[in-house]
Amino acid sequence: MKDHDMNCPYRKRCGGCDYISMDYKEQLAHKQKAVGKLLQPFGKVEPIIGMESPWYYRNKVHGVVTGDRHGNCFTGIYAEKSHRVIRVDRCLIEDQKADEIMGTVTGLMKSFRMRPYNEDTGKGFLRHILIRTGHETGQIMVVLVTASPVFPSKNNFVKALRKVHPEITTIVANINNRNTSMILGDKQQVLYGKGYIEDQLCGKIYRISPKSFYQVNAVQTEILYGKALEYADLQGKENVFDAYSGIGTIGITASDHAGQVLCVENNRDAVRDAIANAKRNKVKNIRFVCADAGDFMVKMAAAGEKADLVFMDPPRAGSDRKFMNALFKLAPRKVVYISCNPETLQRDLRYMTSHGYKVKKMQPVDLFPMTRHVETVVLLTRNT
Ligand code: SAH
Repeated sequence: MKDHDMNCPYRKRCGGCDYISMDYKEQLAHKQKAVGKLLQPFGKVEPIIGMESPWYYRNKVHGVVTGDRHGNCFTGIYAEKSHRVIRVDRCLIEDQKADEIMGTVTGLMKSFRMRPYNEDTGKGFLRHILIRTGHETGQIMVVLVTASPVFPSKNNFVKALRKVHPEITTIVANINNRNTSMILGDKQQVLYGKGYIEDQLCGKIYRISPKSFYQVNAVQTEILYGKALEYADLQGKENVFDAYSGIGTIGITASDHAGQVLCVENNRDAVRDAIANAKRNKVKNIRFVCADAGDFMVKMAAAGEKADLVFMDPPRAGSDRKFMNALFKLAPRKVVYISCNPETLQRDLRYMTSHGYKVKKMQPVDLFPMTRHVETVVLLTRNT
């Protein structure tokens, strides 16, 4: 598909895709320059690895539910810095089937007399729709975020939705009755199927629950993990530590090449998924701890534990001093840092390089075409 065939009607108002008006090649050049500016002081930045077909890649799709005066419902996104919802029926970076399902859900609402939730009045029922799809498996999870725990005619609703989309493999009701910008609430109820989807990544199968993190672009994630593993250059015996481990994807991918792997993650649901994932993939040399990565690192360092290699993959905010100070005590020979935010990466690399580490390699990978976001994997080694 040619770039000029792809014209997003929402590009001005949505604000999600800063680079969508540029050719993809130009986007990559822009990202290379931006990452270079931040990271070149640490060494050479390899050319960014782009995506072959940079459209419809997002396997996680979210819509805010809203409606018009005539009772027609639709989904959209919040306008920047506001709670006004801009209607979006079709997005060029989201999974197309997910967008279609979202339209079916809102289309069914009127006949079920289901009202969209109104944030100002606190009235109404359906707040958000979240859809996750397994890129390799084709499994689809629909999460209906509601303001109240009582789901009227839920069985009929599920039946009607599955009739139009028999490809849906699980449906979950999540209850969020708080005035919050968080999409998902604490309580949930499985309405159909297993309550999670599975996907295949780098030859392993992973289950993914509604609240667990999973990279949104599976195709590019395989390339990213491939690089991370190449940088790790494991020889089969190492003690590996996987921090901010999510559902265990990096640790499990590395486990075939390591002596043992220890993972830490603070999201309970993700840890539960990770334990199931290790079992499912018959990985025996891995353990998972549910804790704050910094706190846990401090404990490990105090106990005199050793690690040969640490993978760290923190959220956008980057890591923290607590984590990194303990990391310096643990003194692994190698650190593979995976970052979704070059600015916090720059900050953390500055700290690490002034505490005994040097940057060896840096590889940006385009996980988020059309947007300004960049993922980068960095290899650091300890000065000896
Ligand atoms: N490595 C995983 C997940 C990376 S996303 C993957 O590639 O899929 C970052 C993860 O860090 C999320 O799962 C998030 O829940 C977790 N996290 C965020 N802050 C944390 C903290 N302080 N301690 C431990 N885990 C944390």
